[in-house]
Amino acid sequence: MCQPPGSGAEVDGLSNGLLDLHLHETIAGVLRERDPNSSTVNQSGYIWTTIPRSFLDARCNDPAGETECILRGGMKEAILAQPGFSCGVPAPLETAHTINPVPGRGLGMFATRELRYGDLIFAERPLIVAPAAYMTRAPPTETGEPSLEWLFMEWEDLLKAAVGRMSTENQEAYRALANSHVNDGSPPLLGIMRTNGFSASEALLQVFPGLSDGPEGRFSAVGKVLSRVNHSCAPNATVVMEPLSFTLQLIAVKPIALGDEITVTYCGLLDTQKQRQAQLDSYGFTCECPACSNAAESDERRTKIAEIRKSLGEHEFEMWIREPSLPEDYLMKHVGAMIDLIYEEGLQAATEYAYALELTAKSICAAGHIGNLIQATIAYKAALSTELGVTSPRIQDRLADFKSYLLKRTADSESHQEEE
Ligand SMILES: [Zn+2]
Repeated sequence: MCQPPGSGAEVDGLSNGLLDLHLHETIAGVLRERDPNSSTVNQSGYIWTTIPRSFLDARCNDPAGETECILRGGMKEAILAQPGFSCGVPAPLETAHTINPVPGRGLGMFATRELRYGDLIFAERPLIVAPAAYMTRAPPTETGEPSLEWLFMEWEDLLKAAVGRMSTENQEAYRALANSHVNDGSPPLLGIMRTNGFSASEALLQVFPGLSDGPEGRFSAVGKVLSRVNHSCAPNATVVMEPLSFTLQLIAVKPIALGDEITVTYCGLLDTQKQRQAQLDSYGFTCECPACSNAAESDERRTKIAEIRKSLGEHEFEMWIREPSLPEDYLMKHVGAMIDLIYEEGLQAATEYAYALELTAKSICAAGHIGNLIQATIAYKAALSTELGVTSPRIQDRLADFKSYLLKRTADSESHQEEE
């Protein structure tokens, strides 16, 4: 059995044990039908629907198949209404991965060529996108909360209907995925989703801003191939759901050599070793990576990274732009210290690293260091790919926004001095 990817702060699919028992709502009448162009709505507003494999523009087809979805009303329309949807399933110019056995750990993914930070390794349409937290209207038990058994049963029915709509091939693929929740009462389809889900919440929020930021707005996506990627506490890749292509994308966050195993995190990267291991327990393995074996030093560095990041907000950046009396390296010395710690821990997968590259690029731009600007822009663009996905139109928006900072510190400082 391979160790499947799952949840955590970075890969925030289904948090272990995340079962929201407080909002009570019933799922009734689980209907099944196989027409991928139709949708079925149940009483509580969940819709079983399909993001099809075929579009008018054949370049947008994914030969691997369609995605079954359990969504709220209006979400599918919002996905299809994105300008340029679907831009098709992106692929690297040359195949970059292979799946091989890993001694003692089932299967794993390996690089078949060199990769750089920000490179797309692989993308696929998910087999399923479904709620990552389930609201039940089951009657409360003596503790005041509905029974877990009831909740599991309703949630499993929801998934059964979606899996029942899949092609035979996709049903078999879904059922063949690893399930590390066999002993906690999770029924099988739910167990597989809890084991293999990546977060789709951010992606769906981008196209459907009305989505709740509470548990009912959280969605999870399960990929057939990406479920084979193993865990590391210092991973060399990250998975992001990109809405315009409606794909899960695996993107390199470190230089990767030919033959290296490709890994992602199943837990919160800046959490302590103890916290990480607690999250990994539900996957049924103990992590013995260098960071976990050397917990005291590693925890200290990870905590320090989080602390520095907190002190480098938008407010500090704007203040540095406006205040000519602040030294040129006011922010960059802290950014530099954070990057050093990130390299020591091998934590380029953390969002703090992408943020450091963004802040570096903006500072160079604002201070007018034109000589370094191209390199900083390339690094920032790669960072945006790791956060948004390589096909995201938001990358161009963010780059345009960043160019508006050009010479801003010089200009703002001058006008500030004139006012004085
Ligand atoms: Zn570890």
